[in-house]
Amino acid sequence: MTSPLTAPLLQMALRAEPDIFVLRQRGREVATAVGLEYQDQIRLATALSEVARDLVHSVTGADVAFYVVGMDEGRRVLRVDLAPLRPFGPAGYEPTSGSVARLVDTLELTPADGVTVIRMSRRIPANAEALTPQRLAELRAQLAQSAPVSALDELTLQNEQLIAALDEVRSHRDELAVLNDELQETNRGVLALYNQLSEELEETNRGVVALYAELDEKSAQLKAASESKSRFLANVSHELRAPVTAVIGLARLLADSASDPLTGEQARQVGLIRSSATDLLVLVNDLLDLAKAESGRIEPDWTEVDLRVVFGQLRGTLRALANRPGVELVVEEPPAPATLRSDETLLTRVLRNLLHNGLKFTETGEVRMRADLVDGRWRIVVSDTGVGIAPDQHERIFEEFYQVPGSASGVGTGLGLPYARRLAMLLGGSLGVTSEPGRGSAFTLDLPVDGV
Ligand code: ADP
Repeated sequence: MTSPLTAPLLQMALRAEPDIFVLRQRGREVATAVGLEYQDQIRLATALSEVARDLVHSVTGADVAFYVVGMDEGRRVLRVDLAPLRPFGPAGYEPTSGSVARLVDTLELTPADGVTVIRMSRRIPANAEALTPQRLAELRAQLAQSAPVSALDELTLQNEQLIAALDEVRSHRDELAVLNDELQETNRGVLALYNQLSEELEETNRGVVALYAELDEKSAQLKAASESKSRFLANVSHELRAPVTAVIGLARLLADSASDPLTGEQARQVGLIRSSATDLLVLVNDLLDLAKAESGRIEPDWTEVDLRVVFGQLRGTLRALANRPGVELVVEEPPAPATLRSDETLLTRVLRNLLHNGLKFTETGEVRMRADLVDGRWRIVVSDTGVGIAPDQHERIFEEFYQVPGSASGVGTGLGLPYARRLAMLLGGSLGVTSEPGRGSAFTLDLPVDGV
């Protein structure tokens, strides 16, 4: 993998304690000459002196050689081989792990020329001066000339390096102190921000709480208003029912053949009074029903209801209403078993209302009712092929007294659907509509199988 480009740059003998200093100093010299950075020079020199000390003590010394070798990737490496004078004892020598090994790129024990050599290497930076064979020859000559300094000089130098290293540590410590100060400052800022935020949050919370209190108050007021409206409607309708019924009775009496005969004009006017009073009675009755449903005064009578029976009755009673030629009333037979827990009277009222509307708003085609059990709930759909309802009116038709402008049914109070929806809710279900103008409507009553 690595091969010396040329002969060793420098060779020296390590035999005794003072040589350790010399090796250290020469190592740094070679490192400087080949272009290692300052820190790396110190690292290599330190690693060399550590290993040298071990070798002098354990195997009386070594022969040391410095090489510049080429690596596969083209980078140059400074390599130092230390060939021990004697084989290592049974305990061997283990410098390859630990702090010394970390000072250089590689530190290994490797066999060379029949002995185990300790080899360390350090990569030469790419920006160092190019080490051409000519330059290496120059360096070799230069190193051969320079005489090693004394152990004392080397010690002095080592001291200086130690002081420089200490200085660096101190400056790091100062930087750390500055950083610490900044961190504390930031912490104070964050804390202030946090306090400000939590104050704002508290403020907002107080606002929300106040808003909720206001909302509660408003909804209580709304509930009270709605209750008094229902009470008013119930009272007025109740009070109106008796006189209106009386008017109808009197009109019937006047027109009766047993009474004094009326002139033609009188008979027409009495007829008008009677039909207006009848319309009024329908309105009063509807209002009373709705007011009762809204005030929660209707208590469903829960029993086992058979949908086939309900459908059969409606088929029979509404046949008379389906008298428009070209409109067919189809009440499909529900799938058996068609039972649910509900209030038969209220359920019949809802369905009659829907069928009634269907027949009222359909000129040609059909009005159809069918029931299906979907996901454990009954879905009863009353569909027609009538005038249909525009999407923006789908919810409005469930408001009291609302009638689609221009739907011109002639009769009706606009109370049927709100009443039907109320009853559907009382029965634990819901009532909705899908419709398209000109294509018909489908009202869907969704009910639980086992009541509420
Ligand atoms: P009413 O039928 O007495 O007017 P409803 O509350 O039953 O009152 O219906 C409100 C309005 O909804 C009706 O006036 C009509 O405009 C519209 N509507 C209800 N059912 C149908 C339907 N099947 N097809 C078209 N429009 C409908």
